Amino acid sequence: MAQFRQSKKLNNVLYDIRGPILEEAERMEARGHSILRLNIGNPAPFGFEAPDAIMKDMVRHLHHAQGYSDSRGIYSARTAVVQYYQTQGIMNLDTDKVYLGNGVSEMITLSLQAFCDPGDEILIPTPDYPLWTASVALSGGTPVHYLCDEQNGWNPDIEDMRLKITPNTKGIVIINPNNPTGAVYSRETLQQIVDLAKEHDLILFSDEIYEKITYDGAEMVHTASLADDDVVCLTFSGLSKAYRVAGYRSGWLAITGPTWKAESYVEGIKLLANMRMCANVPAQHAIQTALGGYQSINDLILPGGRLKEQRDLAYRKLNEIDGITCQQAEGALYLFPKLDTEKFGIVDDEQFVLDLLKEQKILVSHGRAFNWVAPDHFRLVTLPDTETLSKALDRLGEFLSGYQQV
Ligand code: PLP
Repeated sequence: MAQFRQSKKLNNVLYDIRGPILEEAERMEARGHSILRLNIGNPAPFGFEAPDAIMKDMVRHLHHAQGYSDSRGIYSARTAVVQYYQTQGIMNLDTDKVYLGNGVSEMITLSLQAFCDPGDEILIPTPDYPLWTASVALSGGTPVHYLCDEQNGWNPDIEDMRLKITPNTKGIVIINPNNPTGAVYSRETLQQIVDLAKEHDLILFSDEIYEKITYDGAEMVHTASLADDDVVCLTFSGLSKAYRVAGYRSGWLAITGPTWKAESYVEGIKLLANMRMCANVPAQHAIQTALGGYQSINDLILPGGRLKEQRDLAYRKLNEIDGITCQQAEGALYLFPKLDTEKFGIVDDEQFVLDLLKEQKILVSHGRAFNWVAPDHFRLVTLPDTETLSKALDRLGEFLSGYQQV
């Protein structure tokens, strides 16, 4: 009998954040265990409600949102994106160069499908948000990882980036603020990357979905604001994180810079956007309201705000555990602690995460799921309230005090 196998183009496509460990957690839940999920950056289940104005906008427009929209997205939302970026120093964006998507995820996959030919190399950070590596692989391109340096606040190692550029390199991915490390890149660092892109005629893909989640006054600089005349830049952002509506699937892609150099590429993006008709229309209506007016996320990230308090507590408690060191996050919703692999005999970080899950019913993500180079990190989501986080980290400490993998 015929076996229907997945296509060979999936051979190098990995997305382990929702992989076998999550399946094991689901099996445990089905057997009645209560699992503390510290594995996905999904604000709503942790009591982070969306701003009322966004909900009202969606509900109010439901009636008018029954049909397909323009495949780039409704005009008012695309204009709101343009106007928002004008306030951020990105001046040369045209409404026609904004594409709304079912979350940033769709626009990442779509933009790489339209771009990569076999052999094309795309520079991606390690560690990364693994959708980038997966999408380059799926598109037939080759992901090439540049190092982010833990000892230097997880900043991109520009020399390593330079060394990895070959005649086949076509683009550089920047994730800022970064998932999983929490790094927020300085203007100087971003300028160096822009200069490198200019020197080698590369496109920049700047994933800025955490742009509004920064702590302790870290300055968010948009890559496109530095690249204006020189480099084609694709900026990705959306409502999932700062506006806490990950389930509505609402994001965008904005293309700036000397777009005359990328006419064919933009046509390709348009073709793929046409083929999927349009993004979820009710959620498109939330964009204008979200970007204008009061930004309630600020209440959560400033001193006394929930997200900041939780990050501070997690950072402090992690560093108190013997055998863990952790850099502080300047942005986003995660910490990426380092494990003393010698002390714990860890050779397989996935096994470590599985052992923690089975013994303490706590689910985190192993570092290599983020294409990190060694089995010595894991990612923790800082979304639970301080009491829950505190208990979870006590349990992690207890677990590690007796842990020996080999
Ligand atoms: N980019 C990064 C860096 C992310 O962390 C995520 C989600 O966690 C996404 C993109 C996808 O976001 P969306 O919900 O808009 O698809």
